[in-house]
Amino acid sequence: MPHYKIAIVGAGPAGYFAAQALQNSVTEDLTFSIDMIERLPTPWGLVRSGVAPDHPKIKTVSKVFEKIANQPGFRLFGNVELGKDISLEDLTNKYDAVVMATGSSIGKKLGIPGEDLPNSISASEFVPWYNGHPDFKDFKIDLLGKVAVVIGAGNVAMDCGRMLAIDPKELDETDSADHALNALHKSNIRKVFITGRRGAEFAAFTAPELRDLPKLEHTDVYINADAIALAYKNAEAKGEVEKHLASNLEAMKAVIEVPKQGHERSLEFLFSHTPKEILGQDKVEAIVYSTPDGDVTIPCDLVITAIGYVPEVIPGIHFESGKIANIDGRVIGSNIYTVGWAKRGPSGVIGTNKSDAADVVQLLISDLKEPKQAGDISELLKSNHEIVDQPYWVRINEAEVAAGEVRGKPRVKAVSVADLLRLGQP
Ligand code: NAP
Repeated sequence: MPHYKIAIVGAGPAGYFAAQALQNSVTEDLTFSIDMIERLPTPWGLVRSGVAPDHPKIKTVSKVFEKIANQPGFRLFGNVELGKDISLEDLTNKYDAVVMATGSSIGKKLGIPGEDLPNSISASEFVPWYNGHPDFKDFKIDLLGKVAVVIGAGNVAMDCGRMLAIDPKELDETDSADHALNALHKSNIRKVFITGRRGAEFAAFTAPELRDLPKLEHTDVYINADAIALAYKNAEAKGEVEKHLASNLEAMKAVIEVPKQGHERSLEFLFSHTPKEILGQDKVEAIVYSTPDGDVTIPCDLVITAIGYVPEVIPGIHFESGKIANIDGRVIGSNIYTVGWAKRGPSGVIGTNKSDAADVVQLLISDLKEPKQAGDISELLKSNHEIVDQPYWVRINEAEVAAGEVRGKPRVKAVSVADLLRLGQP
């Protein structure tokens, strides 16, 4: 009975869904061992370090990941870095197939003057900072000023804007990192703008995220009614308005219709604002936009750019157009496959990865030949290297959840690799 060994690099949603697709393909004549390799001591990828803490429902998918991890033949190798603790060549030699689920983690740059001023930061720093990603535990953000601007009209911009604009009390019972929660409690930011360079009809927000806005208890949310009327007009001029767009525009209209409470905190959406220059002497002081009505300058103290991501380069892997060079997930001329943002670029919600990974796994299975007889991965890892296997991770997870229970939160995250490893010590 053919038994194949598959390595999955990256323990985020796309990696788990690839593992699930392999598990779902098991028959009497086809079985798999799945080794999932992850640089951090914690799995779950963006479900842990991307999804906004005030959206706990989205994180419940982690239960599915744990079910996948508990299937026979699945092993987690956390705290193992590709290229450092194990080479890509070793993986491709030892395994029948290697699935790269490495995501896309570097924030795209605007390429405008002033972008590198202090307090002009990227969502790719801000988001992992408030989510307790170990690489960003010491990240410094100055929240002393009153006005913040978030650039981009996508869900990441929305998360960043919301996290700055809501009353931090609304985060007390979430799994936000303690360092971020403390900083947000001290924050003076009271006015947040989210700016899109095109009209509202082109905004990349999704309707569920827009529909959440009227639920904010301590923040008034503003969208200009004329901008939405124009978006309807422009969309209708092109023919029938697509369902997804109609639903987005409806959700924006609903935001407009909510009576404003005169809260000290506000979140305002501006469309047709193309960033031109960030101004400031020693730090951000203002941003200049070009708009259909001419240049507009908004004085501000913090700029967060949330305009998409590019992948981190992995030696030995060829990237093109912001993703691993691939055809339908196959890396041509190798036994490497790719799924998730590494395959498609940074688009789609968590669920998008499920069908996408299943399609790639079908191709992977159709390519399989004679199983390799190579040895085990553990022979390749440094002997004294601390590896977070599934039981180790379960201990970390349980310790974080237990610490959370005492404080009325889903968990209290450990934010350094050393602390995470300590939590999981047997
Ligand atoms: P995104 O949805 O692609 O949005 C990127 C935004 O940046 C677009 O509005 C784009 O405008 C704008 N942009 C790009 N280049 C720009 C530039 N040079 N100047 C000004 N604006 C620029 O990307 P994302 O927000 O990073 O999200 C990535 C994926 O994760 C999306 O599929 C998103 O739905 C998903 N996500 C989902 C959730 C959730 O479900 N709750 C949360 C977070 C993220 P143009 O359209 O004009 O290019």
